[in-house]
Amino acid sequence: MMQKKAIILDRDGTLNEDQGYIHKIEDFKLLPGVIEGLNLVKDKFLFFIISNQSGIGRGFYTVDDFWKFNNHLISKLKQNNIKIEKTYFCPHKIEINCDCRKPKLKFIKDIVSEYKINLKESWVIGDHPSDAQLGINSGSKSIYLLTGHGKSHLKDLNKKEIEPTFIAKDFLTAMKYILSNL
Ligand SMILES: [Mg+2]
Ligand SMILES: [Zn+2]
Repeated sequence: MMQKKAIILDRDGTLNEDQGYIHKIEDFKLLPGVIEGLNLVKDKFLFFIISNQSGIGRGFYTVDDFWKFNNHLISKLKQNNIKIEKTYFCPHKIEINCDCRKPKLKFIKDIVSEYKINLKESWVIGDHPSDAQLGINSGSKSIYLLTGHGKSHLKDLNKKEIEPTFIAKDFLTAMKYILSNL
């Protein structure tokens, strides 16, 4: 049986704008190129979201707020014929040192056991060094985005010597890169 391939997406700053701890539907805004980009590759990959949501653990918003916002995003994508298989999120504050906060592998392991995906042929995409690190830790390919917090965290990426497969100026560029590197 052919193993499935996945694109594991960060959410805030990758799919939607991120003003920091974003959780209100009024503030929801898809980033440019997201619909077009996902449509380019959707026949070849399953899509998942893994998101660090420490704002929940810090009491800035609730799990319920998280799902309202997330469901809004999922329905916008669905209207454009894009399916997210599943969303995973870490609600813990950093100090707890939980097992699920990116770049830890818990959710990747969950995806592999449920969907039997081929990690080596899969991609992890995000605008934070922890996303690129997650890609490396999981043995997947990775793209670091310069949208969201990507530009301001670029120096951390370099300082920590994290080397993603590719650095993309925006989401559409990232998806085109994936298409040309199948
Ligand atoms: Mg992000
Ligand atoms: Zn966690």
